[in-house]
Parts: sequence; C-alpha cells; structure tokens
Amino acid sequence: MATVLVGDNPASVSYVTAKNKTCAELGMTSFQHTLPATITEDELLALIDRLNRDPAVHGILVQLPLPRGIREARVIEAIDPRKDVDGFHPINVGRLMLGEPIFPPCTPAGIQELIVRSETPTEGAEVVVVGRSNIVGKPVAVMLLQKQRNANATVTVCHTQTRDLTAHTRRADILIVAAGRPQAITGEMIRPGATVIDVGVNRVGYSDSGKAKLVGDVDFASAVEVAGKITPVPGGVGPMTITMLMRNTLRAARLHLGLPVEG
Ligand code: NAP
Repeated sequence: MATVLVGDNPASVSYVTAKNKTCAELGMTSFQHTLPATITEDELLALIDRLNRDPAVHGILVQLPLPRGIREARVIEAIDPRKDVDGFHPINVGRLMLGEPIFPPCTPAGIQELIVRSETPTEGAEVVVVGRSNIVGKPVAVMLLQKQRNANATVTVCHTQTRDLTAHTRRADILIVAAGRPQAITGEMIRPGATVIDVGVNRVGYSDSGKAKLVGDVDFASAVEVAGKITPVPGGVGPMTITMLMRNTLRAARLHLGLPVEG
C-alpha cells in the first residue's frame, strides 16, 4: 500500500501512522509518501501517476483533507480505480450505489461489519444516520439500504436542516452518528435498547501526558444507560476503518494477480 500524506495536520499524521503500522503488523509492505503542504496539484498528480503505474503498489491511499489549493476531486479521480482502496473514485462510488462494490469505503464498511458481528439484525430495521457526508453518512445509508444480506434496512438520513432530529433518532433500532459535533446525541434522544454506532472523533484538548483527548458525537455517559449496544470513542469505529482498509488492499492485490476477490 502507498500512503500519501500532504502537510502536517496532526489528525492526518496520526491516521497515516496508524495505517502504516497496521500494514507492518500484517506483513503488508507500505510506502509512505510525506509531502509538504506547499506541493502543487500537478506535483501531487505526478506522484499518483507514478503510483498507478508501479506494479509493486496495489493500493493507494491519499489522506484527506488536502491543503487548500489542491482540488480533492481531481486527485481522487486521478487514482486508478483498481487501486482506490478508500473507495472514493466515482467509479467505485457508482458501483457502491449499484450494490456491487469492489472497494466499499472503509468507515461505512467497518460500521456494517460492527453491526453484523454484534448480531444486530438489519433486515427491516429502522436505521437512522445523522450526517450526510460523502465519506460516511451517504455511503453507509446506501450500503444498509441494499436489497442484500446484512442490509435491507429502512434508512433515514438526517442533517442540519432536519426538523426535529430527536423524533427521528428515537425511532432508530440502529443509530449511526457521523455529525462531527461533540456529544450532539444524548441519552434521551436514543430509543431504549438501540444499537448506537458513534463515528465522531472530536479533539477536545489534551490529557496531562500531552495526548489528544477524543470524544465522539454521542454523549457516552447518558447514552450507555439507554442503548442496548454502543461503540466507544476511541476504540470503536476507528480501528474498524483501518481493518477495512487492509481488507480492501488485500482485495486490490488479489485483483491485480487475477485471483477471485472474496465477498
Ligand atoms: P462532515 O463532512 O463534517 O459532515 C457532517 C454531517 O453531519 C453533515 O452532513 C452535517 O449536516 C451533519 N450535522 C452536523 N451537525 C449536525 C446536527 N447538529 N444535527 C444533524 N446533523 C448534523 O463529517 P464526516 O466527514 O462524515 O465526519 C463526521 C465525524 O466522523 C467527524 O467527527 C469525523 O472526525 C469522524 N470520522 C471518523 C472516522 C473514523 O474512522 N472513526 C472516519 C471518518 C470520519 P449538513 O450536511 O447539513 O451540514
């Protein structure tokens, strides 16, 4: 896997470090490309072109967000869709929509896996997603909506223009929160017994040892009293995102070698 980090955003640095570390643990070679924030779009596109043509590279991960002045859409579209292990290329987004993804986007795939492994039924379930970003809210809604195993849910997507958010969240058998707002969802907004997936990662200062203090989008203390199951932050969706990235990279390698890509 080739990881591309542009600039020194602390969150991005820690995500890329974790991804490379996991590659090492799994015995997967990773090539880390760290570029200054002053790099031009053309220089970045030239690197992507090199990685696309490098037979030693099966997966390319460009850590987002990119510095201002570099058009993310152009960079994502430049990645060979067969190496797009983040699943953000329009071809892969289209395949996801059709229910035939090769590289399902990592965070939504991790959420689905958490739901399935925790034996939470999805068929016919009321799923409410808070947030409609292209990387979490929209794709996870599409994945759980598919007429397929481990999906088949009735999905509602909420956002900042939603009238009466609580009326929706309280209906949810499965509540997925990706709003990027610390503790936006509290216990009284949750249906008793619901499965709550907290995607949020919000930095709210530093601990005494200088480590970033993280909280989710769900107020864990009040939510845990009501929910049937709930993911912690940190330690819930985050590690699953990395795991799914590794799975996608393995799929990309198998695809490259002409081997069947397992489901
Ligand atoms: P984003 O692009 O900032 O989008 C946030 C979405 O939430 C928007 O659609 C916004 O609505 C909606 N929203 C914000 N406040 C709301 C509120 N009070 N009520 C209802 N909807 C609200 O976020 P993102 O990239 O999806 O990320 C969301 C969170 O997940 C962030 O904390 C991010 O760090 C975290 N994250 C974690 C992982 C992981 O692996 N653990 C991966 C990706 C992201 P509008 O569209 O109307 O603005």
